[in-house]
This record gives sequence, structure tokens and C-alpha cells, in this order.
Amino acid sequence: MPLVNAKEMMLKAKEGHYAVGAFNINNLEWTKAILLAAEESKSPVMLGVSEGANKYMTGYKVVADMVKAMVETLKITVPVALHLDHGTYEGAKAALAAGYTSVMFDGSHYPFAENVEKTVEIVNLAKTYNASVEAEVGSIGGEEDGVVGLGEFADPEECHKIASLGIDMLAAGIGNIHGVYPANWPGLNFDVLEQIKEKCPGMPLVLHGGTGIPEDMIKEAISLGVCKINVNTECQLAFAAATRKYIEEGKDQVKKGFDPRKLLAPGTEAIKELVKEKMAIFGSVGKAE
Ligand SMILES: [Zn+2]
Repeated sequence: MPLVNAKEMMLKAKEGHYAVGAFNINNLEWTKAILLAAEESKSPVMLGVSEGANKYMTGYKVVADMVKAMVETLKITVPVALHLDHGTYEGAKAALAAGYTSVMFDGSHYPFAENVEKTVEIVNLAKTYNASVEAEVGSIGGEEDGVVGLGEFADPEECHKIASLGIDMLAAGIGNIHGVYPANWPGLNFDVLEQIKEKCPGMPLVLHGGTGIPEDMIKEAISLGVCKINVNTECQLAFAAATRKYIEEGKDQVKKGFDPRKLLAPGTEAIKELVKEKMAIFGSVGKAE
């Protein structure tokens, strides 16, 4: 199946009360693990690519061509959207031109009026590519200069305004943060989520920072309109732990255990298993059948 935009998968998720996982990719192994997990789970999936990961993989075209070719070669039948994560204005344009089927324009650091203006431009541009757009209101907390924030809350009025610009998904801060949650994190704020939901009827909501949010909170968020959950750090931790174990057990020094295809295999397998677990929690398993 060719790459698709995220519109239909979001609407189906909203209707079916589940969420589609958006898993960040960093290289070929990551991509393969997530695509195979989605296929085995018969689940729709979004592959998220940050601008940093994009640069690491040497550019938008390389990523788009690799993902398209891999979907074809692995005979992936479930819907796959290739999504730019936290895109800048210029990044979103470049990703669309290279064949990404979905972009997040993160204008949350601009003054609100400018965020609105630029979001409208990206929405209009994305239409010409039949791509979907995610916008962000407020900002999602996380580690900055070594200080981990406790999460911020989006203004429901601002959410309402951005949601009416023709976007397909809306990311709004409800106390979620990127990276590993600190021990004193107070949890997601469901009152704020409820208010955003009321102000933005029908709009699929996006939960960033999916790593380490307890399962019951994830389920409650989905029941309140969250249709897309971003997972990044958790795959990195799983990959690192499995790779560490392989090396600490000395397996890289046995025969040709240093071969990257062997060395990276346990980490790849760990990502695949984690993604399948997440899909089960998000309720998307079997939804692409
Ligand atoms: Zn994010």
C-alpha cells in the first residue's frame, strides 16, 4: 500500500475510540522494526521523523524514498503515514516536497497570531500535496538546559482558533512532557483535556511525550479524544538496553558477533516488541484489517 496521509486514520481512530501510535524513526533498523510491528499487529501506524533525525539520515528525500521502498519491499498492507515531527515552517515545506504525507507544523514558540498565520499557509500548501497537518498550541514541556519542566497547559480558546484553520490533528499541552517523566510529575490534566475537547468538537487530539505515561492515563486520554500518541524516547531506551545487554554479555566478541547485522539485531527486535505492546495499549491492533 502506498503511503497515506493521516486524515482517514485519525477519523477512524476517533470514531473507534482508539489511538494510532506515531513512532519516531532514526535509521533503517528503526523503520523496519516499526513497519513489521504494525503489519504483524494489523495496525495503522505513523512514522515520526524529527528535523534532527531527518538531518542525521541525510535529508527528507532519503527518508521518504527509504520508507516508500521499504513499505513496498516488505509488502506492508496496513496504512502508513510518514510524518514530520515538530517541523519548522521551512522544514514542513521541504518535507512535503520530498514526499512526506503528513507534517506537524510546530509554531508554538511564535506569538499566537503568527502561529495562526503560518499554520494557515502550511495547511494550504499541504492540501496541494494531499498531506495532513498537525498544529500545536502552547508548548509541550521537556528537558531544556538540563531542567525538566513539569508540563504546560494549552489555552482551550487558542486551541479552538487553531482547530478551525483546516488542520487534521491538534497537539495541546495537558501536562505531558518529552523525555523521561520526573518522579514528582503530577500526571496529565484531564480537566484541561476535557475543556479542549469541548472547544474543539470532532478534532483528533495528539498526545506528545508518550514515554512513561501510565496505561490508565493513556486510556483516559483516548476516551477524551486523543487519537494519536507520540512515542520516541521509549524506543530509544529499549534499543539501548538490548544493545548494552548484547555487548555486556560479550556476544560481540564471539565469532562474527561484531557484524552490525548481528550487533543491532537485539535492539531492533526490542523496538518491534515495544511497538507491538504500545499498539495493544492504544487499541489500534486489528484496526487495519
Ligand atoms: Zn513532541
